Amino acid sequence: MCALIERHPGKFESESCITKVAYDWLIDGMADEYGSTEEGTPDIFYGPFTDATSDNPICDECLAEILSAKEIRLWESNDGFVTTEVIE
Ligand SMILES: [Zn+2]
Repeated sequence: MCALIERHPGKFESESCITKVAYDWLIDGMADEYGSTEEGTPDIFYGPFTDATSDNPICDECLAEILSAKEIRLWESNDGFVTTEVIE
């Protein structure tokens, strides 16, 4: 587990800081496609994410992962937990 997310328990519990970063993008209206919590479809962000991390604290491990990602999918459950899947 990356170090940063340990400071974000609850909503992002046991997720990497990529989840926190992607959720911040979602709040900022930066998703390329919006999903539906009720239908269980994800919000989708398309890479490359080469300059997307400049405003976000992110650990080296997650930075390497996000830089090689083609797509990030984010799901928010009905009880408010957020998970992501990174597509490389
Ligand atoms: Zn991390």
